[in-house]
Amino acid sequence: MGGPTRLPAAAGIDIGGTTTSAVVIGDDGAIVAEASLPTPAREGGTAMFRTAVRVCEMAMSRGRFELTAVGVGAAGVIDPADGSILAASNSFRDWAGYPLASDLRMALHVPVVVENDVNAFIEGERRIGAARGLDDVLGMTLGTGVGGALVIGGGLHTGPNGAAGEIGHVPGFGNQRCSCGRTGHLETLASGPAIARRYLERRGSGNGAAELTAVDVAAAAREGDPAAAAVFDDAGRAVATAAVMVATLVDVTHVVVGGGVARAWDLLQPAIEAGIAAEPPVSEQPITVVASLLGVHAVAVGAAFLADRGVCT
Ligand SMILES: [Zn+2]
Repeated sequence: MGGPTRLPAAAGIDIGGTTTSAVVIGDDGAIVAEASLPTPAREGGTAMFRTAVRVCEMAMSRGRFELTAVGVGAAGVIDPADGSILAASNSFRDWAGYPLASDLRMALHVPVVVENDVNAFIEGERRIGAARGLDDVLGMTLGTGVGGALVIGGGLHTGPNGAAGEIGHVPGFGNQRCSCGRTGHLETLASGPAIARRYLERRGSGNGAAELTAVDVAAAAREGDPAAAAVFDDAGRAVATAAVMVATLVDVTHVVVGGGVARAWDLLQPAIEAGIAAEPPVSEQPITVVASLLGVHAVAVGAAFLADRGVCT
């Protein structure tokens, strides 16, 4: 074809509950292009797949790149054998069972790796983010739900059933109904929807505020609204308790917190630190809980690194 040389680059795609985004990373691991679109979660798996392809092509069109591999971080349980979606939350229509990796491979003509979004998140943070250099760390994402990924001895610890690290669904955090159908899970205090719902309950205003989000509650807390501050305090203390549980059980004392709710780190951090100080682990090892450095890019960056490393299915 001729023309200027194209730079070999890997792309990472993050298929999240509200936004699908892509990044292109160059040889040195830096983000060289990005793009995003709303996730058509209610339109079904095919629409979500098409959006993933489009957002990848949009990011690729922002430079002269030669696509070498694509990594995807997707919500849900991913089949490690073929990169299909084994199970997904009810907010995604027709997503469970979707053959995501094989469809992307056919559409983009490069090797494709699909990984759970929280696993991709902690990979991104370990490569160029807040967990760089850490071989033992818990990644926790506070978003539509609460996700977890446990890295032990430099590798992702998935457990014999692939269920390790699901910190969002440990019980003992009150009596509210969780998205999974059970009661009192960490997610019922620390997810974005939980923060919005608990704020409305405290205010006694259930009606007419369906559009309220954790971002609005954070703004109210910063303006001195005590109900909003209390909800973030509860979320932070719950995150601290979860961190102490993990430190106590498996001696992992570093936690990186991402997801949309972590953008209110100014509101969460004091409660997290107070919670850890109030219930330190019996080992008396210090626990470090920090916010994601890569923010909205963490999942896509981690997915791109996973693809680039050639862990292809
Ligand atoms: Zn649950």
